[in-house]
Amino acid sequence: MTIIEALVDLQEVDGRIRELETELKDLPRRKALETARLSGVSADLQAAKANHEYAAKRVKSYEEDAKALREKIQQLKQTQMGLKTNKEYQDFSIQIDLVNHDLEATENNAIAAMDDLPGAQARIDDAQAKYDSEKGGVDAFCAEIDERIAKVKAELDEAMKERAEKAKAVNDPKFMLYYERLRTKRWPVVSALTHDGVCDGCHLVQPPSVGQLADANAKNGEAGKPQSIVACTMCGRILYRA
Ligand SMILES: [Zn+2]
Repeated sequence: MTIIEALVDLQEVDGRIRELETELKDLPRRKALETARLSGVSADLQAAKANHEYAAKRVKSYEEDAKALREKIQQLKQTQMGLKTNKEYQDFSIQIDLVNHDLEATENNAIAAMDDLPGAQARIDDAQAKYDSEKGGVDAFCAEIDERIAKVKAELDEAMKERAEKAKAVNDPKFMLYYERLRTKRWPVVSALTHDGVCDGCHLVQPPSVGQLADANAKNGEAGKPQSIVACTMCGRILYRA
């Protein structure tokens, strides 16, 4: 195997590693998006519950007021029974009427407030149903993502082992160093030099000297002689004659 062939082999594994790493970065993001969407639905449910709580508090408050007014009327009536004069009795009747009027208004308010409750409860039920159904979907989606993450990690471990083997096969430190340096900036690192003399990585037409070097390299490879690094004059990719 020539050094270029060994590099192309290594590059094939590195290509898979790159894809797996990209996916591994992307998967948690997709999970976070789904979870965020669910927390929006959850916020709707919380708001519906708060709204119901507020409506129920209003009802309770009017009911308490009505109870206090009824007790007040009871007291007034009891006091009224012990009164001696007609004038005092009539004064109390007027007071009792006034309180009765308040009571009626308060009871009407309580009834009106109670009318809000079924709607508020329906809003909770709707929000709860939506949350339950969304949560089921999101949980299943997240479980799938977790499974995929585990699978990608396992594949990545395998690929890294394979890479170590392939890297050993590139037994020329000069080539290896060049490849490793360029790998973070350019991908792929090793590109074909087309028959038109174009770098397949950046598509720049190479000077004839580059084509001659690439041809010589190919011949050296066939003859089992050492190969040299032929690089694109524009992007620096390692070029080989396809
Ligand atoms: Zn190039």
